[in-house]
Amino acid sequence: SVISSQNIIDQTQEYGAKNYHPLPIVISKAEGVWVEDPEGNRYMDMLSAYSAVNQGHRHPKIIQALTDQASRVTLTSRAFHNDQLGPWYEKICKLTHKDMALPMNTGAEAVETAIKAARRWAYDVKKVEENQAEIIACTGNFHGRTMSAVSLSSEAEYKRGFGPMLPGIKLVPYGDIEALKEAVTENTAAFLLEPIQGEAGIVMPPEGFLKEAYEVCSQENVLFIADEIQAGLGRSGKMFACDWEGVTPDMLILGKALGGGVFPISCVVANKDILGVFNPGSHGSTFGGNPLACAVSTASLEVLEEEKLAERSLELGTYMMEELKSIDNPKIKEVRGKGLFIGVEMTEPARQYCEQLKEKGLLCKETHENVIRFAPPLVIQKEDLDWAIEQIKAVLS
Ligand code: PLP
Repeated sequence: SVISSQNIIDQTQEYGAKNYHPLPIVISKAEGVWVEDPEGNRYMDMLSAYSAVNQGHRHPKIIQALTDQASRVTLTSRAFHNDQLGPWYEKICKLTHKDMALPMNTGAEAVETAIKAARRWAYDVKKVEENQAEIIACTGNFHGRTMSAVSLSSEAEYKRGFGPMLPGIKLVPYGDIEALKEAVTENTAAFLLEPIQGEAGIVMPPEGFLKEAYEVCSQENVLFIADEIQAGLGRSGKMFACDWEGVTPDMLILGKALGGGVFPISCVVANKDILGVFNPGSHGSTFGGNPLACAVSTASLEVLEEEKLAERSLELGTYMMEELKSIDNPKIKEVRGKGLFIGVEMTEPARQYCEQLKEKGLLCKETHENVIRFAPPLVIQKEDLDWAIEQIKAVLS
């Protein structure tokens, strides 16, 4: 017999640390854009696990790669080579046009890796004085929950009670090119940014900012690091959100959809002059680059390419955006986004709207209080999207 949703929610309340405030729904099954609770109620997933499920839930090709690999070998550690890592390295480097990759597991770990690479590059290559390297990040950023990621944050609640923070960090307002120029010193190792700020509420930089910031960085010998963990891999309507301005970052950080929502894998990619700073003993991870993750990731990247998911995201996203913009409601402050990465900013807290949408069979989550984020799996069919838009219109009109 199945355990009821209420039982599971009670168990979670009883034994779980209270670091999340989920909507009261239990998911016990999923396929494509649809999820189901233990009672058999169906919902459309408009969050995609914060863009980790771009390829849709349990994509058959990715599940096949998972089960095939699970029946051969799952973990070797990096003490030995494994036969899935080499092909994955080649795949990710060719996709990003970079020389080298370094695999980790979660997004935050890949951000840690990028910061370590940038700092060591500053000392070894740029010749910054020992322990003086600085990283410039942006207000409103979200790079994860580890100590260095929260040290980068401008959110008091992400940092409260966790001090002391990592030193050597400067923040500039997101999108402010003059502030960036002023913040750069001879000790600056890197400028780290999200090309679209997801957790901040789908916040876009002013047009031209990525390009200008990249130019400032190359003139000043500062690494331009793009955290594409949420905005990358098709979500914004391009393979990478930096493609919108024709910018190829010095270092790219990927995660989430890199594992197709099936298995965690993240990575940093860059050229040899940067990632070459790592030598044996300087960095690593027991699970990083494990064969199960690599097999799943290779299949996940193939699905993105074969099914042209970035193009789908652009086409369907442009359509959805127009439909949402046509809703006449003074409580809607702004509809913004790129591709199927859309934020609807309300003039009041968005949670009540997410709860109403859930009643209509559509799952999404508020971000930054007043913003509803719509980010369905990129495999969504037009008729499913039309159904979703109908429900959204019913709640928001
Ligand atoms: N960077 C960005 C831009 C993200 O959106 C996230 C997750 O939401 C992370 C980093 C952290 O990833 P993870 O939760 O896998 O550590």
